[in-house]
Amino acid sequence: MCGAPRSPTLGSMNTSAPTDTTEQLIPGVARERVALPGSERWDDARQAFNLRVDQQPVAVVLAANELDVIATVRYARRRGLRVAGQATGHNAGPLGALDGTIIVNVAGFDEISIDAETRRVRVGAGVRWEQVVPQLSELGLAALHGSSPDVGIAGYSLGGGMGWLARKHGLQTNSVTAFELVTADGHLVRTDAIHEPELFWALRGGGGNFGVITSIEFAVYPYAELYAGALFFPFERTREVLHAWRDLLPTLPDELMTWAGILHFPPDPALPEELRGGSYTIVWAVFTGSEDGGRRLMAPIRELGAEMDTFAMVPPAELGDLAMDPREPLPFLSGHDLLDHVPAEGIDALVDAAGPGSGAAITMVQLRHMGGALGRTAPGAGARATLPGAICVFSLGVTPDDEIARATEATLAAIRAATAPYRAGFYPNFVEDAAEASDFYEPATLRRLRDIKALYDPADLFKANHPIGATK
Ligand SMILES: Cc1cc2nc3c(=O)[nH]c(=O)nc-3n(C[C@H](O)[C@H](O)[C@H](O)COP(=O)(O)OP(=O)(O)OC[C@H]3O[C@@H](n4cnc5c(N)ncnc54)[C@H](O)[C@@H]3O)c2cc1C
Repeated sequence: MCGAPRSPTLGSMNTSAPTDTTEQLIPGVARERVALPGSERWDDARQAFNLRVDQQPVAVVLAANELDVIATVRYARRRGLRVAGQATGHNAGPLGALDGTIIVNVAGFDEISIDAETRRVRVGAGVRWEQVVPQLSELGLAALHGSSPDVGIAGYSLGGGMGWLARKHGLQTNSVTAFELVTADGHLVRTDAIHEPELFWALRGGGGNFGVITSIEFAVYPYAELYAGALFFPFERTREVLHAWRDLLPTLPDELMTWAGILHFPPDPALPEELRGGSYTIVWAVFTGSEDGGRRLMAPIRELGAEMDTFAMVPPAELGDLAMDPREPLPFLSGHDLLDHVPAEGIDALVDAAGPGSGAAITMVQLRHMGGALGRTAPGAGARATLPGAICVFSLGVTPDDEIARATEATLAAIRAATAPYRAGFYPNFVEDAAEASDFYEPATLRRLRDIKALYDPADLFKANHPIGATK
């Protein structure tokens, strides 16, 4: 993907950056931590999780510590460049063109410290859920991570964070107790309920618009075991299973969160034989109560007679891979909606668009039951306290070539048309294209976010995946 090798100097970047022949790299940042176009590490440094995204920033700083970030922010400001914080590149699509932008990759911020007594965790901004969830599990603790173990805690928390325990404990961002970040004036700032409380409010849901996060502190929850698993049905039974799942939802307590969906597994030899190349309709659930209680609640689905049943009492670490999300970067297109109560004909329309006989080009359609704590604002919450809707739909199609990409686009459009009548909003973490900030926030929340942006980053130095725009 990279072009002809060029001399790796900032002065030679094909950008709007002014040429500077005396200052070749970023002062204060070790040369080996700056990846430039044409350098050996360029393609690795700029790679996003979605291989359809071709990130072309002016440089990637592989920051090792706060001083690297401070030096980069000050340098960018002097040179009229912008800065985009990035951890794993799982939501790089909406960033769009990166002309004149330096990516600060924080993967090197890998500190993890767990205080089991107070149930508080502090992690560097580069830590992925899979690095901390197993350690917590050993201590009988569970975090509010989502379906994918290799998503970064930073981006997930800045945007909200909807995981298996969300109906019980809400979005992860509500459990964040502090962020540390480098702000546009090039200073390291701590934000929590006492320090810079307005900025702390904005960061909890306002994304990467306010600085480069260097560390995060958050609360975790005491669970030695949970009742969790999946029921696998043949793809041909999608309609019957999704109707039964929809009927089940009103009966469920906040302690149980269930997801349902279609999954077409690739013929990947790394997968268990029974899944390889198979197509299933799957109902998952995680219940924070007893095995008996969980079995009772899930009985209407189990009674349909599943082909495979993996439910058991498991330690929290097992939730990491429960959804069987892909671990390796891959090319894909996706679509998403938050839906209000979906009537039976809405399920029929969705199955017509993506189920058996539809000829749909799609890898996964996933429905998450929402409500519970996801709909309740806690005192002292931040900008993204809740999410609207009763069901979250996220669809993804792997697109190895253009023909499949075109077919996937058509399927995603058909799914969108099927769900549009019930649309309640959008969840930024699941939106992988550029979007209007007004799609995500109430007008008053957006105004407050923009006022805080104007205070902390008046020149719009920081480029986030979902920009909040300027005060009008
Ligand atoms: C396979 C898959 C499964 C997913 N499952 C879930 C799920 O179950 N629940 C859920 O809520 N979401 C889920 N997501 C969405 C995920 O939460 C978002 O993609 C999130 O933005 C990823 O954060 P990241 O740090 O890993 O990615 P990145 O692309 O590195 O970051 C995304 C954005 O976050 C901001 N950011 C990240 N790090 C920093 C930093 N240090 N400083 C400043 N800004 C920063 C930036 O604006 C950046 O553009 C999933 C995504 C994928 C691809």
